[in-house]
Amino acid sequence: MRIDLHTHSTESDGTDTPAELVAAAAAAGLDVVALTDHDTTAGWAEAIAALPPGLRLVPGAELSCSSPDGRGGTVTVHLLAYLFDAHSPALVAEQSRLRADRRRRLYRMAQRMAADGYPVDPDELLARLPTDSPAGRPHLAAALRDAGLVSSVDDAFHKLLRTGGPYHVPRTDTPVEQAIEMIAEAGGVTVLAHAFARARGPVVTAEVIVELASLGLAGLEVDHPDHDPPTRAELRRIATDLGLVITGSSDYHGTNKTVRLGAETTAPEMLDALVERATGAQMLVG
Ligand code: AMP
Ligand code: FE
Ligand code: FE
Ligand code: ZN
Repeated sequence: MRIDLHTHSTESDGTDTPAELVAAAAAAGLDVVALTDHDTTAGWAEAIAALPPGLRLVPGAELSCSSPDGRGGTVTVHLLAYLFDAHSPALVAEQSRLRADRRRRLYRMAQRMAADGYPVDPDELLARLPTDSPAGRPHLAAALRDAGLVSSVDDAFHKLLRTGGPYHVPRTDTPVEQAIEMIAEAGGVTVLAHAFARARGPVVTAEVIVELASLGLAGLEVDHPDHDPPTRAELRRIATDLGLVITGSSDYHGTNKTVRLGAETTAPEMLDALVERATGAQMLVG
């Protein structure tokens, strides 16, 4: 069984459409794939309709959240949510607010770059993204790459778009405690994504994970491309101590990142443990 529980489509900042993504998952030899676009469930229907025979789909999302960092400050965390009812009113309202905030914020980032003479047009950038989609920095990064200003999306992040960098504008994310509660109310389960991906910026302390576990967090994403072996060992120990489900996932973004589908995987018994706790939606079979 090959299980990859974290992927992005064109409904957020990936480059495969949901239909292409499930086809690519089958071609990569996966048995189970989760679709976890940032702050939207808009890709579920297309992915379900296009599911190749034998492939199973875990419907999900990756929620942008703010969390106490454990040192008196605040930090961004990503919460993977699975098997929840996508029509839950509180969730629908909050995600729609966040998507609007994401679009305003990306517009402002592009506007600042244009003011400094970069050949980016904020209106054109936003017009190219689907209405109500969760606009993100990778969209601006791809535009900069296409304009020949940087060599890759990754290069754009490092030179211009990194958090705290010259053109970065923060989002107003959902408090993580609220997100865990919203997903639980919608019958879903939550897994903290790439919790110790320190190269991306500041991360939470282990004490924060203990606190989130007490609030109902179900699991920790341990095997992730942004975690080196010592970090994985550290997270695995924390998850084991707290009785949390351990997952592994590629965080595939199509050509916006180099990682391949199935580059990291989750053990079947860990997926079973998540499915057992969820009542909001079902895993789908092609
Ligand atoms: P945003 O959600 O707009 O703040 O943008 C952050 C997203 O950009 C994350 O979800 C990552 O998927 C992606 N990202 C972050 N750093 C990089 C990088 N160096 N190269 C490519 N994508 C990145
Ligand atoms: Fe992303
Ligand atoms: Fe993430
Ligand atoms: Zn992701």
